[in-house]
Amino acid sequence: MKETIKAYNNVLELIGNTPIIRLNRIAEHLSGNFFAKVEAFNPGHSTKDRIALYIIEEAERRGILKPGDTIIETTSGNTGFSLAMVSIIKGYDCILAVSSKSSKDKIDMLRSMGAKVYVCPAHVSADDERSYYSVAKRLHEETKGSVYINQYFNDLNVDAHYNTTGPEIWEQTGGQITHLVACSGTGGTISGTARFLKEKNPAIRILGVDAFGSVLKKYHETKEFDTAEIYPYRIEGLGKNLIPTATDFDVIDKFMKVSDEESAHTAREIAKKEGLFVGYTSGAAFQAVKQFAEEGEFTAESNVVIVFPDHGSRYMSKVFSDEWMSEQGFFDSVNAEEVQKIEF
Ligand code: PMP
Repeated sequence: MKETIKAYNNVLELIGNTPIIRLNRIAEHLSGNFFAKVEAFNPGHSTKDRIALYIIEEAERRGILKPGDTIIETTSGNTGFSLAMVSIIKGYDCILAVSSKSSKDKIDMLRSMGAKVYVCPAHVSADDERSYYSVAKRLHEETKGSVYINQYFNDLNVDAHYNTTGPEIWEQTGGQITHLVACSGTGGTISGTARFLKEKNPAIRILGVDAFGSVLKKYHETKEFDTAEIYPYRIEGLGKNLIPTATDFDVIDKFMKVSDEESAHTAREIAKKEGLFVGYTSGAAFQAVKQFAEEGEFTAESNVVIVFPDHGSRYMSKVFSDEWMSEQGFFDSVNAEEVQKIEF
């Protein structure tokens, strides 16, 4: 009998089913058990592979997408990369309107994956005609046979995580998860995962991570959209200057805001202490864990799952560049001896 060839048919078959990995040294002073859901294990190196595949396949099922059609999206990079990857395999064109805050590496990568990229100014309001929202909307109107993914306002973004990330975490923890910690950008990850987990066990605490400079935490607490909360910050993909409908605020118990500086140091610490080379928002997520721990959120019995959204290689010219860290003044509060210790 002939041996079967154990090959995947294409890269898309590797999306999802990412591992959870216990965090050891970085969590040794905290009460509880901490596990990272490492989304960098997706073939596109981020959690956005899940929504790209799910939304495109749902559009195909509904007969909205035909071969040769065009996928359009606004993106901080990760969703764009995932959409470009899925588009290549499935035979679609991919047009992306991205924020100028996105790293050059990310933009070059999108172009390498065959996407057409429009770079739009980051610090204009969403309804400004130069914003990436307005540009994407206009391109959608002008391009025949195009689908606008619109991840911030698309329920399928939430459904993707309800159907994949949530069940995986439930199964991987044998139902023993007590806390979920996840960054909120579109809110798709936290909302979909939380909805599934709360259905299984309403006592599971859902902890959101927001950025200083974003409106989400205040909105969650007051239901007020407070523009005074909005100012520029550096973390890409976390927090927002508008309220996305893809965020289900009702399933989130509490938000924590984290700073650019502490999140950057924590991302570097994760690499150094756990050998996990993950992105800036993974640093933000674990920074939030430290702050939640200070508030007494966890006990020795807690089983905390933290979503690490993407891979560190996407931030070589930012968080993982000493020059960039110095330029931001992020080494100022650390003495020279400590920098040596951290760096070598
Ligand atoms: N981290 C990174 C790096 C991201 O790109 C995003 C998505 N904007 C998030 C976290 C947040 O995930 P979500 O959009 O599902 O809330």
